[in-house]
Amino acid sequence: MANKPERVFISIDMEGITGIVDWTQVDSNHAEYGYYRKMMAGDLNAAIEGALAAGAKEVVVSDAHGGMRNLQPEDVNEAAYLVRGSPKPNSMMEGIDDGHYDAALYVGYHSMNGTERGILAHTISGATVDAVVINGRETGEFGMNAALAGWHGVPSVFLAGDAAAAAEAESFVPTITTAPIKWAVGRYSAKCLHPSKSRALIKERASFALSNIPAVEPYWVNEPVDVKMRWITATMADIVCVLPYMERVDGKTTSCSFDDYPTALRGLRAAISIAGTAERR
Ligand SMILES: [Zn+2]
Repeated sequence: MANKPERVFISIDMEGITGIVDWTQVDSNHAEYGYYRKMMAGDLNAAIEGALAAGAKEVVVSDAHGGMRNLQPEDVNEAAYLVRGSPKPNSMMEGIDDGHYDAALYVGYHSMNGTERGILAHTISGATVDAVVINGRETGEFGMNAALAGWHGVPSVFLAGDAAAAAEAESFVPTITTAPIKWAVGRYSAKCLHPSKSRALIKERASFALSNIPAVEPYWVNEPVDVKMRWITATMADIVCVLPYMERVDGKTTSCSFDDYPTALRGLRAAISIAGTAERR
């Protein structure tokens, strides 16, 4: 069948992994982290098994949370390459520009900052970013990363995470296949599937998604790209305006524009890094 995927890219974050409901569980300095990095590998391997079942010949996994060294190499299915460590120019999507992929999958994803009933909802940095608005549309990590995949001609066909992340992905890519594995009660509380149920669902839906690639158009952001960012404090807006491409809109909002999407994504990430140096005063 011509539709069988040859090369599959997986970006894996941690907040949307099975059972996770609190920052301490995704923080390498905390005792609970060791358990949940294993849980992360469990969700990932289910997606890899789904990809292999769909006929994938090559799977590349980009560890996309925090310092990007969450997955321990021996925990990952040996069929996959693992991209790990940071910093990297394409960050959560490192490797997406390394030749053509047939599809991009997202595992462990969470919703954008401010989402009602979004477990650990945030946009790249909870400490600095209130909102990122790209070409007039508020966009979270899924939309930003799907747009980078789309720029490289790769459709975003599958997302596993909490129900709010799944709904957000469907709002950007209506024909995406999702595997919701937990339902928020609040930002730090959820009803969760048992890991074995979660993994079965992820494997089955990922495999289906990869048998259905032609149904999904690569997600595309029009160029030039307008990026408005609302910061948590006015000090952060002060600081990011040292960037030569940045303009102030109002107390906590800045604006910038770029000719192409990959540059826009780097520009907004650079601003977030610099905002992180602000003292909270
Ligand atoms: Zn994360």
